[in-house]
Amino acid sequence: MDIIKLTPSIFICQDDNYYLVNSCCVILDSELIFIDTGLNNNTAKKFVREMKNRTDMKNIKLVLTHAHGDHIGGIKPFENCPIIVSKYFHGSLNENMKRYNWGEKRKKYYNLLDFDVLTNQKIIGDEDNYIIFKQMGGHSPESIYGYFPKDKVLIAGDNLLSKMPQYFPFSNTNLDDWIIGLQEWEKMDIDWVVVGHGDVVKKDHITRVREFFEELVLFLERSTSEKLSVEQVLSHEHCPTYFEDDPEKWTVMGIEAYYKRMLE
Ligand SMILES: [Zn+2]
Repeated sequence: MDIIKLTPSIFICQDDNYYLVNSCCVILDSELIFIDTGLNNNTAKKFVREMKNRTDMKNIKLVLTHAHGDHIGGIKPFENCPIIVSKYFHGSLNENMKRYNWGEKRKKYYNLLDFDVLTNQKIIGDEDNYIIFKQMGGHSPESIYGYFPKDKVLIAGDNLLSKMPQYFPFSNTNLDDWIIGLQEWEKMDIDWVVVGHGDVVKKDHITRVREFFEELVLFLERSTSEKLSVEQVLSHEHCPTYFEDDPEKWTVMGIEAYYKRMLE
């Protein structure tokens, strides 16, 4: 794992054992706000300890951008602090528990935690040093993001990845909501984006991803009206390709899954 100082107030913990998954810590006046936990307890524990040592602060809160295992798996160091999530978090968490067969012990454990549900947005901190969290959906219905105005930093969760394609083969991904969210981000004053996986990016990455998704949705809508089969879509000369390396063919997986749902 690497701890990266992005600004004096923002530190990123990147785990190269699992697709460069990021968790993040924002230093407010009297507390530390952690965003996502990464995949496992040990890495999360080291990150929390390191940030407490660096800042001499004891009070922490955790915000979970969404309910996927690689962002909530390291939750143990946070079991005694408030955990802020989307109002759609528990619905998605229950589905994921079933889908990935997480077992009774882990299910009971999550039910004991102190969740604080965000309706549309939540602000944590003081006048000049605060972070705002907002509901977005897109990658998954419970996806939220954070924005730290002082340093103009956006914390995107898995609604933005870098150095790898965007990931959308899930049955509850909504590309329309995703595009609307990306359009909102493009209007905001942003210097850096902390992505769910990969290295920090500038705002131009948001635009490239939004353009890719817009082209894809238009192509898939046209394909449904022409009644093309999944095979015809995937081999079509106008089927968009992603602009970064895609060694595990996530884009094809995503298009296949999304188009099948559009045909239903
Ligand atoms: Zn992820």
